[in-house]
Amino acid sequence: MGIRENLLLLKKDIPDRITLVAVSKTRTIHEIMEAYETGHRDFGENKVQEIIQKQPLLPADIRWHFIGHLQTNKVKYITPIISLIHGVDSLKLLAEINRQAMKLNRIIPCLLQFHIATEESKFGLDLDEVEAMLKSDLFRTFRNVSICGVMGMATFTNDTSVVRREFKSLAEIFGNLKAEFFNSQESFKEISMGMTGDYQTAIEEGATMVRIGSALFGERDT
Ligand SMILES: *Cc1c(COP(=O)(O)O)cnc(C)c1O
Repeated sequence: MGIRENLLLLKKDIPDRITLVAVSKTRTIHEIMEAYETGHRDFGENKVQEIIQKQPLLPADIRWHFIGHLQTNKVKYITPIISLIHGVDSLKLLAEINRQAMKLNRIIPCLLQFHIATEESKFGLDLDEVEAMLKSDLFRTFRNVSICGVMGMATFTNDTSVVRREFKSLAEIFGNLKAEFFNSQESFKEISMGMTGDYQTAIEEGATMVRIGSALFGERDT
């Protein structure tokens, strides 16, 4: 099946209130354009090099999401083009995003990435770290970033009960942060969780954004 058909099927499956981020890492300009021409505008990439190569070759009204691990020294390359940074996992990184955004006179939307999986390899923060961060004097000085919610990746397993528990915990963290720090901020509203293998569970547990690659573009080689 083609990308267009896959996209239409996914859109039937995913309620309109939920943002579908089409994960286009490793895909060609041609493949991305096929989704674009069906009306899709939200695309996600996980490598700085790749996103800055592709972005100028594609329509300017695409909303680019950065979903990978972002190194502080590379922030400056994506700040002019990015709509949402999903993977903020340190105060240092957030400070650099703020600094680069200030130069551009932009306010950049960001999500805080939480470590919810049992696997060691996944990046992310825990609730104590984030609370310390949000209470810090440095954080209070930031004027050019907007914290819009949380992001997480579940353990890579077929055991739905494990995945469900992890998504539940992220939704709970979101609720706690909302109550403690962002009650008056309407823009704090996103829970980015769920990929091809687990997006249905994520939606059941309260996802507002799902990040889907393979189910849309087909299996990846890498
Ligand atoms: C690759 C990737 C996805 C999409 O994965 P699929 O299984 O192809 O849907 C989602 N989120 C992140 C952070 C990724 O790196």
